[in-house]
Amino acid sequence: RPLPDAETLRVRDRRHVWHTWTPLDADRSALTLSHGSGHHVWDIEGRAYLDASALNSTCGYAHPDIVRAIAEQAARLHHADLSVASHEPVGVLAERLAGHAPPGLDKTLFVNSGSEGFDAAVMMAVSHWAHLGRPRPRIVTFARGYQGATLLSRSLSTLPRNRHLLDTPLPVTRVELPDEPRALRHPGALSALLSAFEEAVGHDPDDLPAAVVVEPFLNVGGAVVLPPGFLRGLRALCDATGALLVLDEVFTAYGRSGRMFACQREDVVPDIIVSSKGLTGGYVPLAAVTVHNRVYDTFAADPVIGGLRYGHTTSGHAVACAAALATLDMLEKLRLPERAEELGACLLRRLASLAGAPGVTDVRGLGLIAVVETDSEGRADRILARARDCGLLLRRIGSAVVAVPPLVIDDEGVAAVADGLAEAVAYTAD
Ligand code: PLP
Repeated sequence: RPLPDAETLRVRDRRHVWHTWTPLDADRSALTLSHGSGHHVWDIEGRAYLDASALNSTCGYAHPDIVRAIAEQAARLHHADLSVASHEPVGVLAERLAGHAPPGLDKTLFVNSGSEGFDAAVMMAVSHWAHLGRPRPRIVTFARGYQGATLLSRSLSTLPRNRHLLDTPLPVTRVELPDEPRALRHPGALSALLSAFEEAVGHDPDDLPAAVVVEPFLNVGGAVVLPPGFLRGLRALCDATGALLVLDEVFTAYGRSGRMFACQREDVVPDIIVSSKGLTGGYVPLAAVTVHNRVYDTFAADPVIGGLRYGHTTSGHAVACAAALATLDMLEKLRLPERAEELGACLLRRLASLAGAPGVTDVRGLGLIAVVETDSEGRADRILARARDCGLLLRRIGSAVVAVPPLVIDDEGVAAVADGLAEAVAYTAD
């Protein structure tokens, strides 16, 4: 299908597309993409960009193996409702996820987005305690966490952009983080953070939480790298109080953090992991709620159906599962988690000299996520605009500039990200 001219596309977009998380007077059609290949994308006027902005795009664009897997599955069996039947790719995928996840997390519920995954995970945690006959409705989490956009997932945190007229349906206790993420590298930061969680969990046997829900790296909440040892400390707190440890690995899983799952950096076994973005590399929507057997087993006691009262007709969509299997093949064959660790370290080394640059307040990272914190949102926007003019797409989270290239990027690509970011920082210096 030939593309109409650029202006026709833009006018149509402005008339009819309601863009996510965007002020009504902002024009997202200013960057209209046409196609991609590897770690590059092209806009409709033929300009090429190195894409270090795509949170989901771990395996890059137009990978022939993933494209073929999608087409073949769509031609064979595109879909079956898992509440009445099963199919081959969902079984193979669930088995492979059990093989990659920490021991004991053998069961996976599939949904279509990270947000839905959180609705399911929170429902599971609270239902688990109800099935044991010891109701625990409360959740403990970060005030600045981001678990999604659905009414339940968004109500866990208190990010201003996430606030909604409909209030939280569950009691939630929220833990604050320091205003400056770099303060989390100070000596004593880990024990202060763990003490805050201990206080939030509390000691009242009648008011212990169902679950502690955290992201190993806070993405939307400020590109925050947590102190090493945090997940292990949280696991100990959960063991002591019975609270389930629910990890939001929607962004960090499948190599982005430098491991298959970020919890494997600390050898932590959570009770539930919610993952999504890198599961299919963004080719098709899919999310996984991977659950420890000890939680799954309690659902036999559900008084209404003797199982999980949750799901979508598209849960475990066969085409999405086939895309995920092809993505996992790539992650394994190319050792993408290990590569992300190596390339991320290289990117951070190259960016380290920016730490003293005018307007830059911190440089930090995890796996293949590099963060350059600036002194204002305006400066971060100017850096993004300059980088884009020079053919590099970056993300802004608050006042932080974030580079998240596909994990399949090469050494030359990493050098181009570092050089482009450094040039944009220098260009926008006062
Ligand atoms: N959790 C984290 C850490 C995320 O980054 C996101 C999305 O950005 C979500 C949950 C929600 O996922 P989705 O946008 O697929 O609903």
